[in-house]
Amino acid sequence: MKLSADWLEVLRCPHCRGLFREEKQALCCLSCGRRYPVREGLPDLVPESGKLPGRRHPDH
Ligand SMILES: [Zn+2]
Repeated sequence: MKLSADWLEVLRCPHCRGLFREEKQALCCLSCGRRYPVREGLPDLVPESGKLPGRRHPDH
């Protein structure tokens, strides 16, 4: 599944705010080289630790 080019213009790497390059199943940061998987056409930019509320990470 191809991402629209618009994605690449508005998205920034959450780690270093770099620009992305599109790969087959991922976005690859041009600055730090991190890759973020694209699932069902939507890039998953959540870092591995998963800081989003609602995740299975009870915060004590
Ligand atoms: Zn980056």
